[in-house]
Amino acid sequence: MEALIRLSAFVGVLLLMMIWEYALPRRTLGYQRIQRWPINFTLSILGMLLIRFTVGGVAYLSAMSATTEQVGLLNQFPLPTWLSIMLTLLALDLAIYGQHIASHRWKWLWRFHKVHHTDLDFDVTTGIRFHPLEIVISMCYKVVAIYIIGASPVAVIAFEVILSTTALFNHGNVFIPIKVDRWLRLGIVTPDMHRVHHSTTQRETDSNFGFSISIWDRLFATYIDQPALGHDKMVIGLAQYQYTPEVGIKQLLMMPFRRQQ
Ligand SMILES: [Zn+2]
Ligand SMILES: [Zn+2]
Repeated sequence: MEALIRLSAFVGVLLLMMIWEYALPRRTLGYQRIQRWPINFTLSILGMLLIRFTVGGVAYLSAMSATTEQVGLLNQFPLPTWLSIMLTLLALDLAIYGQHIASHRWKWLWRFHKVHHTDLDFDVTTGIRFHPLEIVISMCYKVVAIYIIGASPVAVIAFEVILSTTALFNHGNVFIPIKVDRWLRLGIVTPDMHRVHHSTTQRETDSNFGFSISIWDRLFATYIDQPALGHDKMVIGLAQYQYTPEVGIKQLLMMPFRRQQ
């Protein structure tokens, strides 16, 4: 049931974003979709299959066990359900923000996370382009966070849905009027905000780590408002790594295990 809720939300938002990108695109993409989409979708499907047959459902089960055993910070206080859910969502989002920073600073994590950054354009399918093992690492990290926080199962499902849908939204090549974007990004991460993180300029890659809520980047001074070259002229990808669309799925999967990149 939990997997079905997540999958339906994922497919629904993915289709909506694709329609939005087609009807009102933000930038003209530099590459054909056929050069990028097969790789991005294959990585996503491999990730889903790997999760399904390894740690699938473990986040929900951990939350069930943390609640039953009364483990974790929030289980130590008699809080109203709504407050406990809100605090869990905030704490998990902060944990994912921290994980994203660690993925850039710690070399062994970066080896996996860089696959996400090798995309040469930025659209909704960039939001599903992750090395399958990075998703498993992320799930294990989430389990630790769930036990420390004492997250409830309902809050964990809500968080999983929010995280996957916001990741699709904030990678969208969708046009949002600048004024609306300014208002939106006071609370949430917009595509214009996250696109800065995919710039080849190192200072910009090392900014805007948030996925859902925009406050963490402002709070921890990792926020950059706009790319220096502007959204139309900025270059997407990695400056240090000469990735081309011809690099196949096998090479991407082996990327974390290769020596020199
Ligand atoms: Zn990143
Ligand atoms: Zn991204």
